[in-house]
Amino acid sequence: MRIISGRGIADSVGQFCVAAIGAALAIVLWLGCGKVGAAGETKPNIIILFADDLGYGDLGCYGHPTIHTPNLDRMAAEGMKFTQFYSAASVCTPSRAALLTGRLPIRSGMCSDRRRVLFPDSAGGLPDDEITIAEALHRQGYATACIGKWHLGHLPQYLPRRHGFDYYFGLPYSNDMQNQRRGDPPLPLLRNEEIIEQPAVQQTLTRRYTEEAVAFIRRSKDQPFFLYLPYTFPHVPLYASEAFQGRSRRGLYGDVVEELDASVGTILEVIRREGLAERTLVFFTSDNGPWLTQRLDGGSAGLLRDGKGCTFEGGMRVPAIAWWPGTIAPGRTCHDLACTMDLFPTSLGLAGAELPQDRPIDGVDMMPLFRGESGLRRVMFYYRGTRLMAVRVGPFKAHFYTQPAYGPGSDTPVPHDPPLLYQLEHDPSEQFDVAQKHPDVLAEIASIVEEHRRTLVPGMPQLDAVIQSTK
Ligand code: MG
Repeated sequence: MRIISGRGIADSVGQFCVAAIGAALAIVLWLGCGKVGAAGETKPNIIILFADDLGYGDLGCYGHPTIHTPNLDRMAAEGMKFTQFYSAASVCTPSRAALLTGRLPIRSGMCSDRRRVLFPDSAGGLPDDEITIAEALHRQGYATACIGKWHLGHLPQYLPRRHGFDYYFGLPYSNDMQNQRRGDPPLPLLRNEEIIEQPAVQQTLTRRYTEEAVAFIRRSKDQPFFLYLPYTFPHVPLYASEAFQGRSRRGLYGDVVEELDASVGTILEVIRREGLAERTLVFFTSDNGPWLTQRLDGGSAGLLRDGKGCTFEGGMRVPAIAWWPGTIAPGRTCHDLACTMDLFPTSLGLAGAELPQDRPIDGVDMMPLFRGESGLRRVMFYYRGTRLMAVRVGPFKAHFYTQPAYGPGSDTPVPHDPPLLYQLEHDPSEQFDVAQKHPDVLAEIASIVEEHRRTLVPGMPQLDAVIQSTK
């Protein structure tokens, strides 16, 4: 954004002097070490905990009646809980690409209308020229690790260490991708680029991700670090370790979520014990809504409509909790719109990194929200593959197309002209079309869409190419 100041020559000279002093200071800081930010303070650590297919209604602090999540509830009580937080897509691969790059998946080519995610026979992945949070923070002296499900390309050239991570431990894609008819190999568990177990023993994954995360935190605590922990669960097939099997009142799904909750509790406890709490931002959220067609093995979107795979709210609005003692005041609830793409500019800002200037970034720095400021009017674009299905502006959401995630009618998008319009703050379940009452809102949204389409440059599609054999 350009800011026009209208200042005179004297001011320009002053600005030059300030710029020169600033540049000298920047060189001194750069010559110092990667640990110190512009304010002379240690750069904060950043931890992103990313559940898979966890619904808006699946945590105690989001109203679930029988899943017991004391650690996430405490995290929310000590930090900030979001009520209108979105993933950037309703399925795994595009959602993850967006979180790590701060960009709509269509810009990186990480979405498709044919194959909605990457599979074990996919030839594509996150393009090399995309900049991830890990890459940007690594350049600022951060130790970086990805522990968990990657799903941004399993071929060597796409794995986490090619995208700014020093260390990787986890599954390269979803835990249900073992289709023998498709030629999928047994599910591999990787350390860096090496397969260390095949098939991966799924009951142990949450426990081992936690142990790996704790070990990374302990060995990295003397420098700033970035930990990205995309859990494998509660994506199906569900597995809980022995200690959690049969423990919840919500069956196996509840057991699995309660084990994730315990994992979050362990990680926060290590952060506290290591004395890192006041210089560590921990952010917990989910990659998309609950997989409702899995019936009892799927989660709940609470009062939101539908779930994973579609652009109704249940597909993309997710639980989100930010925790940073001393910076985020305890017990806050944020009702402003925010999304996973915001983690990119937020993290870069905290690390003292410049935002890339050569590409559009769709996220917005969340620090004002963390400080309790409010009122920024946001636009959310809801894509399914490459199709723009809906747009939210402030409290209003217009659906140009709707399409159920699965089952009857799921093959064909249904167009709406005029669009369906929901006032989400009155009607979070998207039941009552108010288009006729608000022609002005529809006109404003139409002009936003026109501008978006006019300026959007889609990336080279990554999800459709298939390799000949995975054996
Ligand atoms: Mg998912």
